[in-house]
Amino acid sequence: MKSQTEYLTFNTKSRRDYINITGKIEEIVRKSGIQEGICLVNAMHITSSVYINDAESGLIQDFDDFLEELAPHEPISKYRHNRTGEDNGDAHIKRTIMGREVVVAVTKGRLDFGPWEQIYYAEFDGRRPKRVLVKVIGE
Ligand code: ZN
Repeated sequence: MKSQTEYLTFNTKSRRDYINITGKIEEIVRKSGIQEGICLVNAMHITSSVYINDAESGLIQDFDDFLEELAPHEPISKYRHNRTGEDNGDAHIKRTIMGREVVVAVTKGRLDFGPWEQIYYAEFDGRRPKRVLVKVIGE
């Protein structure tokens, strides 16, 4: 069995951002040389997510609006977590709604997606370096 482990770092300019990382993950799978296996991609922080969905700008804005409705960033005082002196109570909740990781099958050396599936990194408390783990295992 072969394995390849890589860490990607994102430092977004805004508090929230949605970044299509499909190309970067495909490159890691290609580099691994693995033909048949599994690719895990997970956010390593509890205020960001990795998810799979459509690369369509309207939908991305819909996700952001939906998350802001459920867990608005302000007022900061709304969240007990922010009594610790942090201001990211909303980001922890958004992360848990959107998920921690995705797993994609690798078939014949390629990510075996369904139609329109793309891998996204979702940032909910950015403006600092944050990491994503990519692990490909197989043969
Ligand atoms: Zn926090």
